[in-house]
Amino acid sequence: MPNYGVPPLALVRGEGCTVWDADGNAYLDLIGGIAVTSLGHAHPALVAAVTGQVGTIAHTSNLFLNEPEVRLAERLLGLLGGDGRVFLANSGTEANEAALKIAIKYGRTHGRSYFVATEEGFHGRSLGALSLTGKAAIREPFGPFGRDVRFVPYGDVDALKSAVTEDCAAVFLEPTQGEAGVVPPPPGYLAAAREICTANGALYVGDEIQSAIGRTGAWFAFQHEDARPDVLTLAKGLGGGLPIGAVVAFGEHGDIFAKGDHGSTFGGNPVAASAALAVLDTLEADGLLANAALVGRVLADGVAAIDHPLLAGVRGRGLWQALVLTSDASAAVQDAARAAGFLVNALRPNAVRLAPPLTITAEQAQSFVDALPAILEEAAR
Ligand SMILES: *Cc1c(COP(=O)(O)O)cnc(C)c1O
Repeated sequence: MPNYGVPPLALVRGEGCTVWDADGNAYLDLIGGIAVTSLGHAHPALVAAVTGQVGTIAHTSNLFLNEPEVRLAERLLGLLGGDGRVFLANSGTEANEAALKIAIKYGRTHGRSYFVATEEGFHGRSLGALSLTGKAAIREPFGPFGRDVRFVPYGDVDALKSAVTEDCAAVFLEPTQGEAGVVPPPPGYLAAAREICTANGALYVGDEIQSAIGRTGAWFAFQHEDARPDVLTLAKGLGGGLPIGAVVAFGEHGDIFAKGDHGSTFGGNPVAASAALAVLDTLEADGLLANAALVGRVLADGVAAIDHPLLAGVRGRGLWQALVLTSDASAAVQDAARAAGFLVNALRPNAVRLAPPLTITAEQAQSFVDALPAILEEAAR
């Protein structure tokens, strides 16, 4: 269907941070399948986990237990240092859909009627997740959704404070807005959001689908402000390329869903769960959170030092950065980068996203920084 337009390349193979197109051209992959391929391409640990599991048992459904799904849930709770419960789904949207159902049930139980989300925020394309998505251009063509969602400007503590009352069921927040252009909030915003939700009894749902699993240099982005949500959603980088989503609900919130309230045929699939375990184990064993922080600095400092009329600056954290442009030239920058052997993502008309595998080396990041002035020059022509 025409919803994606025509992609510029067909990718046929990858190894580490390099991918090859159908004509045999190599590219340094600085977008990682939209912040997904956390271990890079064809990582031996991921290959072994997936092939081993598919050759053992590939699917059980939720009628039966499988060991990888239990180990993954325990591993996530271990990283989160909490008592909680996990629901496994197959994508970010599905994780948010489950979180929304948890929030709806919480609201009904406590007589709370509305939800708060942020302008320009992104939570997915299904009708529930879309109802929380603040990007009007993708939400409005498919509304109305029959749900009272109030949008506040992202990063504005006072606006959040006024919007959240004792009638509010839940607040949905990204710790940095991803699809809006990798837009971090001002320092203190997440801690303030945590406090506002606690003070008013609203559920704080943290959408860490793009930001978690080491992307910012921490396992979870909320850890930078020690502002743990009540419900956390994960996906993208968790499976390292295999489709998986997860909802974690902490404490008593883990028991909001009763038997029969939700389900998924593929959710908890042992192949996807094994992939996620391999991702978590490898990130830990190879020190890749520290690598994300370190190489993220190489990228950010390197870009910030470039003086070019098309480049306004760089924003983000760890291996999750946006080049901010002085004009709406991101498509031209993306094309020029590709011609120079780098895959980047024209995320917004004036912002280019970098979200490479967490295995990227400082030398690889530097090679992009070194090539960027000529890429910008080409894009400006
Ligand atoms: C990508 C994304 C989603 C949607 O995830 P899918 O796996 O595409 O369904 C939801 N929220 C955020 C913050 C995302 O970045």
